[in-house]
Amino acid sequence: MAKAKSLASTITAHSSNPFEEMIRRFDVAAKILNLEADIYDVMKYPAKNIEVNLPIMMDNGLIKVFNGYRVIHSTALGPSKGGIRYSMDVNEDEVKALAAWMTWKCAIADIPYGGAKGGIKCDPSKMSVGEIERLTRAYTKAMSDIFGVDKDIPAPDMNTGPREMAWIVDEFSNLKGGFTPGIVTGKPLHLGGSLGRVEATGRGVNTSAICAMNKMKLNPKKSTLAVQGFGNVGSISARFLVEQGLKLVAISDYTGAYYNPKGIDLAKALTYRNSNKGNLEGFKGGSKLTNDDLLCLKVDVLAPCALENQITKDNAANVQAKLIVEGANGPTTSAADDILNKKGVIVVPDILANGGGVTVSYFEWVQNRTGYYYSEEEINKRANNWMTKAFENVWSVAQKHKTSLRIAAYVYAMNKVATAIKSRGSY
Ligand code: NAD
Repeated sequence: MAKAKSLASTITAHSSNPFEEMIRRFDVAAKILNLEADIYDVMKYPAKNIEVNLPIMMDNGLIKVFNGYRVIHSTALGPSKGGIRYSMDVNEDEVKALAAWMTWKCAIADIPYGGAKGGIKCDPSKMSVGEIERLTRAYTKAMSDIFGVDKDIPAPDMNTGPREMAWIVDEFSNLKGGFTPGIVTGKPLHLGGSLGRVEATGRGVNTSAICAMNKMKLNPKKSTLAVQGFGNVGSISARFLVEQGLKLVAISDYTGAYYNPKGIDLAKALTYRNSNKGNLEGFKGGSKLTNDDLLCLKVDVLAPCALENQITKDNAANVQAKLIVEGANGPTTSAADDILNKKGVIVVPDILANGGGVTVSYFEWVQNRTGYYYSEEEINKRANNWMTKAFENVWSVAQKHKTSLRIAAYVYAMNKVATAIKSRGSY
C-alpha cells in the first residue's frame, strides 16, 4: 500500500494556524509509523464538521445571529469527547485542531473515547446571563442529534463551566425526555459532577512535570518555576508544584506577569486574584514583567497554562527553562519545537500534560452511567496512576524512536487510533 504523503506542500512554512500546527506534527509521526496513505487520510480529516447559525433574542429586543461549530474528529476508539469554547477567536480551523488534539489526548490517556470540540463565536463578557443561557440552549437544541451519552459528550472549555453544562443537561433532557446527566461532564456536583474535576487538569500537569523531573534528575526542592496563566489550570498547577517543593518565581495573566526571585506567595496571589475580579492587576507580590519576559526567565520549569501560540520562532531561542510542561492546548508552535529540541529543552506536550482533565471527565461519565459515586481520594489516586502510566508510555516511545515527547505522543496516539480504524474496518 502507498505510504503517507506529506501535507507540507499545502501548508505555508511554520504558520500558527492551529490545524496546520497539528498536521505538521501528525506528518512527522505518520512517517515514523509508516502509516498507510488511506489510513492517513481517514485520521487527518474530521469525521463530521457541523456549523450552525443561531438566532438569539438579545435583551434589547433585537435578534442577533451567532456562529457555532461542533467538530467530531474521530469516533474510532469510542464516543467523541471534547469541550465547548465561547470566544470571539473561535473559528473552524481552531475547532478542528482542538478536536483532533482531543482524539490524541484520549488515546494517550487510555480512555475509550474519540475526539471532538465545539465553539461559539461570542464574547460572553459583553452578554447578560440570560443571553448566554439562551445561546447555550439554542446551541444544545441545534446539536441535539449530534450529542449523546454514547455518541458525543461535551464538556467545559474556555469561558464555559458548570453553569453552562447544567443548562445543556436541562435542555437535552427536556428535548429527549428523561434526566441525562451523562450527556456532559464538568457539571455541578449536585447534578452528577465528579469530585476532583476542578483540580484534575492542574493535578495532572503536576504529575507529568514530576515524572519528567525524575527522568531529568531535577530535584523539585531545588527547582524554580514560572507559570503563564493564572486561571483554573495555571493556578492549580502552581499550587500542586509548590506543594512538591518547587519555588514559584513568576506568575501571569492577561494583565501582565509578576516576578519575585525570592518566591511568589501563592496564597496571597490567589486571595488577591479572587478579590480583584479574577485577575492579578495591581498585585504587589512581585515586580511587573511582560508575558514574553516570563516565558524567557531563567527557571528550571516553565508551565504555559493560558493560550495557544505563546512560544514561537520569535522567542523560543530565548527560553531558558530546562523543562516546559504544557498546561494549555497548543502553546508552542512547531517552529518553536524545532528550536527547543535543538537547545535540549524537554517539552511535555499538551496532549499528554493536560490529559488529567479528560481523565476525570471520563470518571464522571462512568459514575453517571453506573450511578455509583467515588470518593475524592479514589478519583485522585486513579487519575494519578493513569497520568503516570500515560507519561511512561510516551517516554518509552520517545526513547525507542529517539524523538521528542511531542512526536512520541502523536506516534503513540496515532498508532492506537489507526489500529482501531483498521480492525473496525468500516470503509
Ligand atoms: P481560564 O480561563 O481559567 O484561565 C486562563 C488564564 O489565562 C487566565 O488567568 C487569563 O487571564 C490568562 N491569560 C489570558 N490571556 C493571557 C495572556 N495573553 N498572557 C498570559 N495569561 C493570559 O482557562 P483554563 O481552564 O485555565 O484553560 C487554560 C488553557 O488550558 C486553555 O488552553 C485550555 O484549553 C487548556 N485546558 C484546560 C483544561 C481545563 O480542565 N480547564 C483542560 C485541558 C486544557
